[in-house]
Amino acid sequence: MLISIVVPCFNEEEIIGRFHERVTSELDLLGEEFELVYVDDGSRDRTLPVLQEIADRDPRTRYVSFSRNFGKEAAMLAGLAHAGGDAVVLMDADLQHPPELVRRMLRLHREGHDQVVARRTRTGDRVTRTLAARAYYRMINRLVEVELVDGVGDFRLLSRRAVDAVLSLTEYNRFSKGLFAWVGFPTTTFEYENAAREQGRSKWSFGKLLNYGLDGLISFNDKPLRAALYLGFLLLSVAAAYAAWIVGVALVNGVDTPGYVTLLVTVTALAGVQMVMLGVVGEYVGRIYYEVKRRPHFLVKATNAKVPRQRGELVRR
Ligand code: UDP
Ligand code: MG
Repeated sequence: MLISIVVPCFNEEEIIGRFHERVTSELDLLGEEFELVYVDDGSRDRTLPVLQEIADRDPRTRYVSFSRNFGKEAAMLAGLAHAGGDAVVLMDADLQHPPELVRRMLRLHREGHDQVVARRTRTGDRVTRTLAARAYYRMINRLVEVELVDGVGDFRLLSRRAVDAVLSLTEYNRFSKGLFAWVGFPTTTFEYENAAREQGRSKWSFGKLLNYGLDGLISFNDKPLRAALYLGFLLLSVAAAYAAWIVGVALVNGVDTPGYVTLLVTVTALAGVQMVMLGVVGEYVGRIYYEVKRRPHFLVKATNAKVPRQRGELVRR
């Protein structure tokens, strides 16, 4: 059995060497054949030369380097596409995903699970981030049709058929958490203690997290569109009832003082609502725009890997 470890790397020069050592020494103990697939996501530091050095020393190393930063989702996709293993483990480069857990993942995989998911506890996270995450997952699970779990990230093992299933989803806007859940297959989850990042800094700012959250919400359902429609109906019926009431009052009492305040408030409120709804529609139109262009998910600048599997599928359906 061949095991592939897929590692997206963005500006990870300080840690990648140590990561490689840790992972290989851990996997050597397993007595299985393995390969490492590093994806350099357009790093601006020395990540690529470091990866090339590692590859020169260790023939089990593949690297794929992007022409620019395409984001972690694209990096994971490239890694999966270039991985030849019977089982593939996705892992961050910053050693926040303990390599010793691969053994446990393999055991659970052998027991018949296609996806083995490591769920991190939130110890060591800032309270605000923990609370925000909890609130977000409560909301999103009410909205989307796949189940998303707090603390479940990209650290997981996928069987060959699960990898192929993920690769067959060619959408441009990729929200992996949702895609993995959507693919299904027997899945099991276990918990692990979150380790603090050892070197470098997290690439997630608050703004990026917010956008990521919105992506999850919008790329996995059309309920916001439906909500906009209902809101429109609601406002329309409120307006109709109010209009009837005004006409009734005018018929009985005659016209009294002109209600310009009411008018102004109504007009601005409606304008605001329309803007919001237009924004919601725009989000979807924007996504359609990106989908119909059918651009590749990433461009490769340098690699020592073979042609990716199902490449035709990735570039054009
Ligand atoms: N990463 C990437 N492309 C990006 C941002 C991040 O490939 O645009 C990689 C990064 O090198 C790391 C993993 O994704 O291996 C997780 O990133 P990070 O540690 O910054 O995120 P966090 O652990 O804080 O969620
Ligand atoms: Mg990290």
